[in-house]
Amino acid sequence: MSLFLKDQWQQWARQWGATHVPEKGWMHRTERVLGMRKGLLFRVHWGRDEDPGLHVLIRFPSVENVERLRDSLVGDSSLDALPAKGAPRRKMELDSGKKQIVRWNARPEFLLGPTSLVWRRRYALKAPKPAQIQAWVDALIESIVRSTPGFRGRCETCPAGQAQKFVVVDEQPMMMCTTCQQRLMIEGEMAERAYEMTEAQHLNGVLLASGAAIVGGVVWAGVGALTHRVFAMAAIGIGALVAWAYRRGAGRVDAVGRVIGAVLTVSSVALGEVLFYSIWVAQQRPDIGFRFDTGWYAYMFTWAKSPGEEAMPMIFSLVGAWVAMKALEKPKLAAKFEEPSEPEQRKAA
Ligand SMILES: [Zn+2]
Repeated sequence: MSLFLKDQWQQWARQWGATHVPEKGWMHRTERVLGMRKGLLFRVHWGRDEDPGLHVLIRFPSVENVERLRDSLVGDSSLDALPAKGAPRRKMELDSGKKQIVRWNARPEFLLGPTSLVWRRRYALKAPKPAQIQAWVDALIESIVRSTPGFRGRCETCPAGQAQKFVVVDEQPMMMCTTCQQRLMIEGEMAERAYEMTEAQHLNGVLLASGAAIVGGVVWAGVGALTHRVFAMAAIGIGALVAWAYRRGAGRVDAVGRVIGAVLTVSSVALGEVLFYSIWVAQQRPDIGFRFDTGWYAYMFTWAKSPGEEAMPMIFSLVGAWVAMKALEKPKLAAKFEEPSEPEQRKAA
């Protein structure tokens, strides 16, 4: 990442009368442009570490038939103006609306939902010029406008409301009437309060999550015995399973819950290793057979004599613990409202 980042999109924002959020700090690109263009809302920014690259979000009033919009975008030859001739749009994915903690497959370059299109493009070394990005965003907006109407001053969450200006909700530009804004804020506050009132059932959470940890350990040992390998994916799966079980049992998650989730994930992998050694001993010495205590002894012996062998399972279990902690973060209940700052003034010609 570049050390001295400076604003690059100001002129563009000014030309379009859009809101420009200037660069802050020096580690990450935080510059963004958001506003309304040809009746649609858009936002352009740089993704962070876990999802790097140029991000373009275009929002439109809810469409009934997402597949049809996708087909028209795929078939629109004007989008050949995008990088790589816009070819990745042929693999455009439809957004299922589900949030994933762990993504197994790569993120699609184009993601289309009933109210938005997200286009992400990674740049390894050189970022594209502002004028180029501006032209791409315009091409996308033009293409969508050809197949679906713009907002026309209407609220997007109720049938009758009027919205003259967009608001920024959870960092996304939205057209929302004042009634809907107030309703959303009150709903958020009530959900927050209800969540704070519920008591975390720690013991229930521990019981269910322990069950999940045992299941995870057995699977870990089984996979190990069959393949003689350890898999990071297995540890991530255990972390996700333990977190899911804890949340079901406890109802509410807190810092204690996150620690429990992490500890049980690490324990689950350790249990898996002990079981794995038990199986191994049983295979080598059928006269001893499968015994948990011999597995435990072999596990401890390995730690004492050649701890390097246990390094990989340990690292993977920590990755799994991190996944569990991420999965047990407090859910976001209230939408975050921001007033968009004043648009950049157009320069008098
Ligand atoms: Zn409304």
